[in-house]
Amino acid sequence: MVAVFYLPIQHHNRMSPPISIHFHGQLNDFLPLQLHDETFDIEHKKNRSVKDLIESTGIPHTEVDVIISNGNAVDLNYLVKAGERIEVYPVSVSLDLIRSDNALLHCQPEPPSDYRFVLDVHLGKLATYLRMLGFDTLYRNDYDDPALANISAAERRILLTCDRRLLMRKQVSYGYFVRNRMPRQQIIEILRRYQLYHEIKPFSRCINCNGATRSVSKQSIESELLTKTKKYYTDFYQCDSCKKIYWKGSHYQQMMKLIDQLKSADI
Ligand SMILES: [Zn+2]
Repeated sequence: MVAVFYLPIQHHNRMSPPISIHFHGQLNDFLPLQLHDETFDIEHKKNRSVKDLIESTGIPHTEVDVIISNGNAVDLNYLVKAGERIEVYPVSVSLDLIRSDNALLHCQPEPPSDYRFVLDVHLGKLATYLRMLGFDTLYRNDYDDPALANISAAERRILLTCDRRLLMRKQVSYGYFVRNRMPRQQIIEILRRYQLYHEIKPFSRCINCNGATRSVSKQSIESELLTKTKKYYTDFYQCDSCKKIYWKGSHYQQMMKLIDQLKSADI
């Protein structure tokens, strides 16, 4: 289904002056080209929160950090008044760029410091990359939208998705709209967005199930190894949960190469 967002108004209601709104920085990613870095009008409706107003343009509230209304910082629950001028800034904007003399309110909470994630059903490959780098990542190909939103809220996990409707759900506090479509670009995007390059702990987590892995003696798992693996490898790891066994074979070398490539993208 193609979502239809944003309707800058054509005819102003003289009784109720429209809201004038301007989105800054990466928030423009969600707008049609002709509205990039433009101020445009939206019809005023009674008892409308600024969250609802912003999301009517297609921008999820999880992308918004600072809202300035007629020069004053407001939060997402603020009820918009007719004729106001509203400036909206994204999460990663430099605070120097925000034109307000008043103390700023940040709409976004600090993300959980241990950076745990839950991913929507379309991001399986990204989930694999995140687990490979040691990040706690929940992913199942049968999670529906309510389940994803609930898990994110209940477990304070950052919800990663390419579905902006999902991020508009009120209970989603920690969320991010993944811009790129290629998994390799997506993982770089996430590492940059949350500045995770120094948090990488390769192979500390099971790619299969997200369980923690630990070093095990060859003896303890020998009976489960194929003859060739038994012959050529000495160091083994095992997942605490699903018991999958890992060793530093050709797959490991390929993953190390990939991790080096990802780290070199830290610019
Ligand atoms: Zn496992």
